[in-house]
Amino acid sequence: MQHVDGPSQAKEYADTALDLMEQHEIPTTPRNFDIWYTYASGRDEELNASIDLILSNNQPFTQDQNAALAAQFLSSGDPATAVHDTSRKIEESVSTVLGFMSEATDGAATYGESLESNLGAMANAENLDSLRRAVETLVADTKGMAAQNSLLRDRLADSSNEIQTLREHLESVQQEAMTDALTGIANRKSFDATLLHEAEHALEKGSHLSLLLGDIDHFKRFNDTYGHQVGDQVLKLVGMILKQSATGSAKPARYGGEEFAIVMPRADLSQAVTLAETVRTTVASKRIRKKSTGEDFGNITMSIGAAQFKPGEPIADLIQRADECLYHAKNAGRNQVATEHELQAVASD
Ligand code: GH3
Ligand code: MG
Ligand code: MG
Repeated sequence: MQHVDGPSQAKEYADTALDLMEQHEIPTTPRNFDIWYTYASGRDEELNASIDLILSNNQPFTQDQNAALAAQFLSSGDPATAVHDTSRKIEESVSTVLGFMSEATDGAATYGESLESNLGAMANAENLDSLRRAVETLVADTKGMAAQNSLLRDRLADSSNEIQTLREHLESVQQEAMTDALTGIANRKSFDATLLHEAEHALEKGSHLSLLLGDIDHFKRFNDTYGHQVGDQVLKLVGMILKQSATGSAKPARYGGEEFAIVMPRADLSQAVTLAETVRTTVASKRIRKKSTGEDFGNITMSIGAAQFKPGEPIADLIQRADECLYHAKNAGRNQVATEHELQAVASD
């Protein structure tokens, strides 16, 4: 997605980026600047986490390091571009097929004319020789037409295979664009689309809709103690727990860095709390161990906010309410689920 910052905002990010690049002796190439501008804006949590990790380990920003960051985070690998490229290739293939069809139509028309004139010549043949010539021309034209048809069939089969391959590629690229690379569950973009779709559906059908927002407790401390890679394994584990717990129509997603969401169509608040409690207790019950050495990293916990959609309200309000509930769960001691009821209780105290 292309972000456009206002002039003063952009200048602030650019100044910060240039300062940081000077500080870490990074050549001010456009690609490097792109990376550090994005870092200064803080809009890509994963990019910031990667750079923070390099900084916290006091690693130098070598040429290779810069290139790796650019390859991972800059837009050349943008799924939207890949979708666009594949769609364009499909259009090209379809237009090639249309070209074949038009050639074939012309060929058939020519053959039709030749058939008519040869049949005329045969009907009017005055002797055996002219009859033979007419028949020979007819046979030659028919063979030509058969050869052209067979060529067309081969070309159509090739094009059809190519279109099929491209369509499968397009599906996988589209799927990739909606999936979080680390955890394999839906990403934020997919979450936004799902929530919007489900809110429209709930309005139309008059059905319930609930939302859970969860956040891993003290995850920074966990990362700082055991390292970012172990942290990544924990994120994968939480993603897996969400996928296994969210049965039926519930749709889990990675909402941000260490924040997760579950959209729950047709679920009221009490059903949302039930699922939230399942997730919370499952997460808390897992001991994190290093597979290779069996080293024990203890366990992690999660706080979860649950909110139910009020028909007609903007989706942003639903998300904000779930977020306030999450904040409440954090403040009340973490490793717990909070709902709108708790918010109301606080408000009326
Ligand atoms: P709280 O209980 O209040 O949520 O505390 P916290 O430490 O979990 O929250 P904070 O927002 O201070 O820190 C979140 C941490 O999550 C910091 C960041 O490094 C880490 N994080 C975000 N994305 C990733 C990621 O993709 N991988 C890893 N390993 N860590 C990540
Ligand atoms: Mg957080
Ligand atoms: Mg957290």
